[in-house]
Amino acid sequence: MIWLLTEGASAQHDSFEVLNPKVGQGEVLVIKIAPQWMPPATSNPSISVFGNRYIPNKYGEVFVGIPLDAKLGIDIVTLVEYGRGVRLSWDYEEVEVVPNDFPVRIRGPFTPTPKWRRERQSISQAFNLGDYSERYFDGEFIKPLDEIIVDEERMIGEESSPFGQGHNGIDLTTMDPKTGKHKRPVKAINSGKVALIARNYSTEGNMVIIDHGSGIFSVYMHLSKFLVSKVGQTVKGGDVIAMSGDTGSAKRGGAHLHFSIKVRSKDGKSDVYIDPLGFIAMMNQLVK
Ligand SMILES: [Zn+2]
Repeated sequence: MIWLLTEGASAQHDSFEVLNPKVGQGEVLVIKIAPQWMPPATSNPSISVFGNRYIPNKYGEVFVGIPLDAKLGIDIVTLVEYGRGVRLSWDYEEVEVVPNDFPVRIRGPFTPTPKWRRERQSISQAFNLGDYSERYFDGEFIKPLDEIIVDEERMIGEESSPFGQGHNGIDLTTMDPKTGKHKRPVKAINSGKVALIARNYSTEGNMVIIDHGSGIFSVYMHLSKFLVSKVGQTVKGGDVIAMSGDTGSAKRGGAHLHFSIKVRSKDGKSDVYIDPLGFIAMMNQLVK
């Protein structure tokens, strides 16, 4: 079998390309299927890796979120028919998952309330209804808060709590200790569509989720004011979508912007929060 694979691969090695074959835990793997393997030439092409099948966007691009606890080592990427998993080409590529040392945040005991459970359903639905075929993001990604120096020790927009196990995003400082002001303009990190405007959720407070297409979503929590008005509304990168605040769990912990990025496969079988700042840096490098 190995011989067959090698023969096939050497004869024809152009059905897809892995853009970053070495990928860390908490990062995103990017694969591009060649146009001649996309519909209508092939029906239901998908990428098989890590035990899942990933349906590409309409440009043949696949984004695979790598969980923080992903198994380390080498895996094989192949092109298969989504439904039955039949190999479409003999091409294969190796990818290697390498370790990343993210912190572990220990959470206190938590008892879900009926309200909290209903909120989970609205959030899941927003992710389910994303546009997995289009890619709205384009060009450079930006950070959601402007970085403003307050004094030698503090900067608005600085990471105050890092991404890691038990914390599926980062917290960014919004409070100026001198003035006590904390409501800052929050910007969409790239173009997309509003997927959810959540009001007064138990944990998230006021939250906006932006669907960037292709299974990429950005999440902004604890907001004081919405500057988008409806689900489906188009935003551009840099548009101010809200003012930061101290709603939800930030009522206790203090004002900050919680910012997450989720990478999800169309069928929802892969659904991963990744390191948001790492994602921005990596995507900006791929664009160059
Ligand atoms: Zn947070």
